[in-house]
This record gives sequence, structure tokens and C-alpha cells, in this order.
Amino acid sequence: MNYDRILIRYGELSTKGRNRKQFITKLKKSILLSLKEFPAITVELSHDRMFIHLNGVPFEAVKDRLSQVFGIQSFSPVVRTGQDIEEMKAAALELVKRNFSPGNTFKVSARRSDKQFELDTNEINYAIGSHVLRNMESLTVDVKNPDINLLVEVRKGGVFLSCEKYPGAAGLPSGTSGRAMLLLSGGIDSPVAGYFMLKRGVEIEAIHFHSPPYTSERAKQKVIDLAERLTAFGAEIKLHIVPFTAIQQKIQEQVPENYTMTSTRRMMLAMADKIRQKRGGLAIVTGESLGQVASQTLESMRAINDVTSTPVLRPLVTMDKLEIIDVARKIGTHDISILPYEDCCTIFTPPSPKTRPKLEKVQRFESFVDFEEMMEQAVEEMETLQLPNEKIMDEFADLL
Ligand code: ATP
Ligand code: MG
Repeated sequence: MNYDRILIRYGELSTKGRNRKQFITKLKKSILLSLKEFPAITVELSHDRMFIHLNGVPFEAVKDRLSQVFGIQSFSPVVRTGQDIEEMKAAALELVKRNFSPGNTFKVSARRSDKQFELDTNEINYAIGSHVLRNMESLTVDVKNPDINLLVEVRKGGVFLSCEKYPGAAGLPSGTSGRAMLLLSGGIDSPVAGYFMLKRGVEIEAIHFHSPPYTSERAKQKVIDLAERLTAFGAEIKLHIVPFTAIQQKIQEQVPENYTMTSTRRMMLAMADKIRQKRGGLAIVTGESLGQVASQTLESMRAINDVTSTPVLRPLVTMDKLEIIDVARKIGTHDISILPYEDCCTIFTPPSPKTRPKLEKVQRFESFVDFEEMMEQAVEEMETLQLPNEKIMDEFADLL
């Protein structure tokens, strides 16, 4: 008897009342997307649980991927029996035997969502526990800290048993909290910011400002790879690549050197806001962290933020660089981010950017050029990619 399905438990979802159906549908989509390499897999929805039918795919092959999908509290590979106590006992014994090593302790943790079932949870624990103990000589019980915790869940559709339980990524399923635009550079911080927003169920569209020939094709590919990496968390991501060269050159010509950084950021934010409006986004996300670099003082943030009244979310604002790097490693973006292909900011960064820029000054410097028109044109010319790439998405559409 092998585990042939996975029982998914969702925590925060259960509190969401009437949005529940939408949440569950999105979670299903996230799961299928993250397991897209295994087309045999199907997902069954039920009231307070979800089941993944492995259809021959080994549990070990999908375990790591599943633990990255937001919206899952915990999951267990399970076997199913009918609501028959003899059948349950036999399956329980076989499972414990398979997981047993000499000296192990065990307990049974029954849960009963079908209150019609003939035994209550204590009676189930006792019936199954005593059957297993009778048939396994060296096994002893430890209810506090057992080596083997045999989970038995009695539901209307059958009984599900497992000796394993893994923590999920928690958070909310992708797309349940609305859409936001992520300013994605090739650096370490912004992909981490994106990850935290995905965790809260935000659908992300990434925006990258690209300045050929100052920045290379490889720098662009790096950003595509970063965005693609973020799709592992159960999300589809659109990536907008915006040509930024002309604007950056104009800024260099027009704005005094110590203010070019402030202006560059203002243009980025203003363009991101235009794209957000077109795309129906509700907020803009950046990888800024307070005090990390010159453009990330409160004075700077205020001068930059002035171009829009759209909420600008900065999930990393209180984090230290080392903490951010830790997360970047954990989510697999770090090694892509540290590839040496420079982005537009590195190249155009002045030697000593103003750390306390004055809003009135930067506004005056910018007033001599029609940046508005240049920005409109750049947004017109942007290129949009769908990640993971279209081919995979087409295959995936057939599964839903
Ligand atoms: P990161 O590690 O994310 O590059 P950083 O520490 O280099 O951040 P800055 O260069 O000041 O900090 O950038 C601040 C934020 O501005 C970035 O986190 C990102 O959200 C946005 N940003 C910077 N450059 C670009 C770019 N070329 N395209 C899109 N967004 C950008
Ligand atoms: Mg950067």
C-alpha cells in the first residue's frame, strides 16, 4: 500500500468566509503551476481540504515544490481506506510497519470531520493504537513526543492515513490579494521584495528598466531568470521590459550630477505608475531598505515618492542586508543576482549622489525637459514577457 495522494491543509483560508471559493480555486491553480512538470497529477477540491492525486508520480518528487506554494499550511502523503474500522486497522498497521525502526515510539492522532462515523476520536485512537501495538512487539507508546505520529482523518469521502506531515509555506495563494507592479532590477533586493509580496497573495507584474547599449543582453536575461525563478512560488508573472536609455541620457545632460540618482528613481516610479494604471495594478513594490544606499534615506524616498500617490510598498524597509541575503539564498535568487552583468543604475550612478535631496530642486531641474513625453514613449515601446514561458503556459491551460 503506497501513498497515492497528498492531503493539503490550509490555514488562513478557512477564515476568509465568502471569498473561500476564489481562494481555493487560486490555490489549486498555484499547485498545478508549481507541479507543471508532472502532467499526470490532478487536484480534487473538497470543503476544507484539497487532495493531490499522484497518479503514479512518487511523493518525494513533488514534496519540495509543494513546500514552496503559498497558501498551504501543511501537507501529508496519505493512503485512503473506506469507513470500515477493520480496513483502517489493517492500513494503519502496514503504514507503521513501513515507517518503523527498532526502538521507535508511536501514537495515533485521529481527527473526525464526519461526525456520523460510529466511533469518536478517542475510540478511533484506542481501536487503531491497540491493534498496532498487539501486532508489533517492540513498539511502545509516547503521546508527547512520538517518533511515529500516525494521522487518521475520518471524512465523508473516506479515511486518510499517514505517518508524515510537512509544513507548507503558509501565506496566501497567488492572486488572492490583487495585483501590484514590482520594480525588478538585477540586484539582490528586489527579487526578495517580490517574494514577500507573493507570500501575501499579491499577483506580481515585474517592470525592468533596460538601457542598451550601456546594459547588455545578458543583464536583461538575468532579470528574466530572476522573474522566472519567482514563478516557482506558484505564480504566473508578466515581465515588462522598458527601454530607458534615452531618458537616462537626458537626465545626465540636464540634471546636476548629484541629483541624477534622484531623478532616475523618480522617472522609474512615474513610469511604473503609468504601467500600473494600464494594467489595473493597485500598488508598486520596490526592494528599498532604509539607509542601505544614498537613494534610500527617508529624504530620498520622499523626493522620489512625490511623483505618485499610488501606495509604494517596501517589504524590505526594515531589513538588514545580511537578512535579505539569507532570504535570497533560501529562495534561490541570490546566485542569479550576483552574476556580474550590470544594470542601468550601476552604470549611471554618480560618485556622490545627494543623500538628502530637496524636492523643490529636483522638480526645478526636471522642469526644463519634456520628460512626460519621453516617458509615454518608453512605455509605448516596452516589451512584455509571460513567465513561465508561453509554451509551458499553453500546456498548463489544458490541465485546468
Ligand atoms: P536591488 O538589490 O533590488 O537592485 P539596490 O540595493 O541596488 O536594490 P537601488 O539601486 O537603490 O537599490 O534600487 C532600489 C530599488 O529600485 C530596487 O530594489 C528596485 O526595486 C528598483 N530598481 C532599481 N533599478 C531598477 C531597474 N533597472 N529596473 C527596475 N527597477 C529598478
Ligand atoms: Mg540594484
